[in-house]
Amino acid sequence: MPTSLMSNYTRLPVTFVKGEGAWLWDTQGTRYLDALSGIAVCGLGHAHPAVTAAICEQANQLLHTSNLYGIAHQQALADGLVRITGMDSAFFCNSGAEANEAALKIARLYGHNQGYELPTVIVTEGSFHGRTLATLTATGNPKIQVGFAPLLEGFVRVPYNNVDAMAEVAKQHPEIVAVLVEPATGEGGVVIPDDDYLVKVRELCDQNHWLLMLDEIQTGMGRTGQWCAYQHTDIRPDVLTLAKGLGNGVPIGACLARGKAAETFQPGNHGSTFGGNPFVCRVALAVIETIEQDNLRQRAHALGQRFSQGLTKALEGVEGVQEIRAKGLMIGIELKEPCSQLVTKALEQQLLINVTAERVIRLLPPLILSDAQADDIIKTVSQLVREFCNSPA
Ligand SMILES: *Cc1c(COP(=O)(O)O)cnc(C)c1O
Repeated sequence: MPTSLMSNYTRLPVTFVKGEGAWLWDTQGTRYLDALSGIAVCGLGHAHPAVTAAICEQANQLLHTSNLYGIAHQQALADGLVRITGMDSAFFCNSGAEANEAALKIARLYGHNQGYELPTVIVTEGSFHGRTLATLTATGNPKIQVGFAPLLEGFVRVPYNNVDAMAEVAKQHPEIVAVLVEPATGEGGVVIPDDDYLVKVRELCDQNHWLLMLDEIQTGMGRTGQWCAYQHTDIRPDVLTLAKGLGNGVPIGACLARGKAAETFQPGNHGSTFGGNPFVCRVALAVIETIEQDNLRQRAHALGQRFSQGLTKALEGVEGVQEIRAKGLMIGIELKEPCSQLVTKALEQQLLINVTAERVIRLLPPLILSDAQADDIIKTVSQLVREFCNSPA
């Protein structure tokens, strides 16, 4: 194990050197099926020709200038994102946490503009919003907050999938300015709220003039079968954050805003050196184009149904399975016992999966997966689960 890296990660004993589509090869030349996509990042799979072409062309032209100047690809990407999301304008940064930082700064400024002294954001239990101090504070997982006090002021937490709790907490906090919430939790265990949850949160925000800020960093870019998960409903957020799948592996995040929220930042209020440079924006444009041309949203939806049905059938009668949940290609299999060892077991079978929230097997395969690859994943995962639960087929 290398000692020149900080020890903040426990790594699996494998190193990949090449990828193609949903396949990865390690240093020994062994091939693996990737059902995780680098945690919902490589939605188009590895070495997608359209992404590679965009990277090579742009590398030959121009990587970086600065936001001191006009950036044509950044403008084009903002136009594209506004078109597919129904938002008004975009700010670009380099990661999900930074996109949420921008959202939280918009919320605070929006509050101060109304004369509030302690603008407060409602966040939920079981959420994940990033690892910077503000986004860590917003995150609803005490385990990853331990040791980093003092955290920030200006947050209140309510249970997930509970609108009444939001209305209730607002009675004790007169300076609420926004709600920050995931449309389905990712790190929190693929918890999919009631169909009308976002609609009701939207109503509550409208009644109280709060900003509805949706963290779609994991759920966005086609993963759930729509560009963004809120598009399964009629509502739109006031602030929307994207990252992960937006660049298919090049680091890019975006904070989009609409209406009053879009008018909050003025020159000097926020910035980023790398954010939205010609290189990453050109690649993100290729990602959007490919998802559109290859109907990958529809594909994510269809594959999600294939997984739901396949896993439900293959795991029928297995006592240790609590619940199988899927929204497009965000798939969670909740077991009754902690099961993190299944990650290594799957790796031994050349399959990459993840376990989150201790008991939830999480699958985030690329949107370009074939039916045969999906069936392979279903077969291997259900065999592993059956073995783990002592429930042979
Ligand atoms: C991954 C993730 C983040 C953080 O993104 P980084 O790029 O790691 O900073 C924030 N919110 C959600 C929902 C995520 O899944």
